[in-house]
Amino acid sequence: MNQKKRLKVHLTGAVQGVGFRPFVYNLAKRLNLNGYVINDTHGVIIEIEGEERNINQFLISLQTEKPPLAHIFSQEIEELPLKGFEDFEIRKSESKGKKEVFILPDISTCDECFSELNDPENRRYRYPFINCTNCGPRFTIIEKLPYDRPNTTMKKFKMCSECEKEYKDPGNRRFHAQPNACPVCGPYISLFTSDRRFVSEKEQALKETVNLLKEGNILAIKGIGGFHLVCDATTDKAIKTLRERKRRGEKPFAVMFKDINQIKEYAEITDFEEAVILSPERPIVIVKSKQNTDLSKEVAPFLDRIGVFLPYSPLHHLLLNDFGKPLVMTSANLSDEPIVKDNEEAFEKLSVFTDYILIHNRDIKNRVDDSVVRVVDKKISFIRRSRGYAPLPVKLPFKLGKKVLAVGGHQKNTIAIGFDDNAFLSQHIGDLETVDACRNFEEVIHSFFELYDFKPEVLIADLHPRYHSTHWAKQFSQENSIPLIQIQHHYTHALSLMAENQIKDEPIFAVCWDGTGYGDDENLWGGEFLITDYKGYRRVCHFDYFRLIGGEKAVKEPRRVALSILFGIYDKNLPNIPTLKAFKEKEIELLHKTWEKGLNSPLSSSAGRLFDAAASILDIRQTLSYEGQSGMIMENFYDWNVKDYYPFQAGSTVSWKQIFEEMIKDSSDQQTKISRFINTLAHIVIEVYRQKGEGLKLGLSGGVFQNRPLIEKIIQLTKKEGINVLTHKKVPPNDGGLSLGQLCCIK
Ligand code: ZN
Ligand code: ZN
Ligand code: FE
Repeated sequence: MNQKKRLKVHLTGAVQGVGFRPFVYNLAKRLNLNGYVINDTHGVIIEIEGEERNINQFLISLQTEKPPLAHIFSQEIEELPLKGFEDFEIRKSESKGKKEVFILPDISTCDECFSELNDPENRRYRYPFINCTNCGPRFTIIEKLPYDRPNTTMKKFKMCSECEKEYKDPGNRRFHAQPNACPVCGPYISLFTSDRRFVSEKEQALKETVNLLKEGNILAIKGIGGFHLVCDATTDKAIKTLRERKRRGEKPFAVMFKDINQIKEYAEITDFEEAVILSPERPIVIVKSKQNTDLSKEVAPFLDRIGVFLPYSPLHHLLLNDFGKPLVMTSANLSDEPIVKDNEEAFEKLSVFTDYILIHNRDIKNRVDDSVVRVVDKKISFIRRSRGYAPLPVKLPFKLGKKVLAVGGHQKNTIAIGFDDNAFLSQHIGDLETVDACRNFEEVIHSFFELYDFKPEVLIADLHPRYHSTHWAKQFSQENSIPLIQIQHHYTHALSLMAENQIKDEPIFAVCWDGTGYGDDENLWGGEFLITDYKGYRRVCHFDYFRLIGGEKAVKEPRRVALSILFGIYDKNLPNIPTLKAFKEKEIELLHKTWEKGLNSPLSSSAGRLFDAAASILDIRQTLSYEGQSGMIMENFYDWNVKDYYPFQAGSTVSWKQIFEEMIKDSSDQQTKISRFINTLAHIVIEVYRQKGEGLKLGLSGGVFQNRPLIEKIIQLTKKEGINVLTHKKVPPNDGGLSLGQLCCIK
């Protein structure tokens, strides 16, 4: 029974740029099958002809032996009449038709390339751009689909004969590796002074870069998705200077280490954290730092945690290896501006930070920041989903009827485009606070339109009238006659949680706690309990409103929130607590008047701001250097041995009065009071759920749920009660996840 057969197989998923076609070629050859394989804009098409037995084996091996980075999302098979193919070939890509293929993120240097990098006999020994079909840049170099060299920023480099041989040899691990390059034909690095004077290039440039770092200089170094500002992580002086020049206050810097063993000298990490640090996406992972190391205290002031990561490009490997010690590696930008990606831009903007710039001549098409994650309850929790993850889609639990563009929020902005059951979330765009940030926001939208050949049929934006993203969407909607839907911020948080957890039709009980978002009643919400489905929501409970004295100012000054809370409890008869020392007496009187009259003091129910109030009352911070700082410092103090909590009243609202009154009366130490406060918030979640949860799944979303003790305490309590909890694992709980939620409102 050696019957012959011909099949046409259509695969979609992450199947381009991962060595998929060479894999298919070799498999077909092995099994004596003829036909062809071709990339099209939907994915990969394979035709195979040969003995039925071999064809069956081919289909099995397609799934079981596929390259490590390939993800097959769907497979369609069609049987056709025999054609009599005489060989198996890889055909040239077609570029017509709807673009649906997945663009892969940038993947860190693989083990094989790493050993070649360190092998003096290899022709790519110490070559900073070594890569193969399993590793290297992808999203950052692609201009359009399909993913072929002429459609990437590698097009300007003509392969030398040896590289071309590898590229054309189906048995070679660089077969059709689009960024394939070597020291003879590929990109190279050059060192310049920031006033554009050429210093040196290639190996000499690397040597001088390392020496400059050893002398305590700050350098700008071009990487995969943009420039980093780099300096020795063990000397205070350079880091202090970096903070001043970057206007960065006390916000922690990420540190790159040469290998996992070096990380272990500086941090206490769990096995799961180790696995995440070593994953090919190479995110920055926030872990517990060890005391008494030579790491500068300037890296992460007041915190017992650091963001660590490993080299992810060959250039990083060489730098870290030659330098020996850990390096501060932070996105090269002024605060709130996008990361600098082009050489010209670097000379224009980075000379304020540094005297030396290490550039290279492979252009970055899409700017991408490093991703930041932490491990919570043995799962990845994103703080920023960017390099290594974007722009892989998040699968939706349903098909979108229309092509949707979601423009996200205002802080930590991401955008998303959606069609069918895919949500393509952009890389981190950031806070839309500056002209350049807003321009970058528009650039990312247009590059997504171009990459996916996408024209939206409907736009979704936040309800907030003053968000730049909303503003842009309104204008784009008018100019292009595309309908715009505006959607409430906290409902959006809940939707993103539902989508990534594959919730289909059932409603959930969503606790959405964050900084602030615009509410239906025009107040600033942020401590919300909602019952939600894809059609709408009911606000079943929220924290009692309090005034944010001075509006925006209160966001940066916990003492103002605390004062408002104190006025609410004691009016003018204030107890003598640390908050008061942060003001002059006259100021307090003045602020009382402002508060009483409600001048520039909007009402808010924000749980994030209640954290700030506690931080002020407990003498932790009176003003903030960066968003979320009070919560991050309070995490340091949390003590799992403290089990009790402050009494509170919950009904259709949750009152904060009693909680803070009890806290102020409490004569225990700071650590106990902080632990009791966090425990109180956890118990509030459980109590309101008991009253209003209707036995639904309990969802936790919003930036406040980046607080690890809080979320772990809630999970601990729900286990006891047998409550089913939903948390974020694919997108950040903060506003970086809003664009996903927005897409889902048109279900
Ligand atoms: Zn490789
Ligand atoms: Zn070459
Ligand atoms: Fe939010």
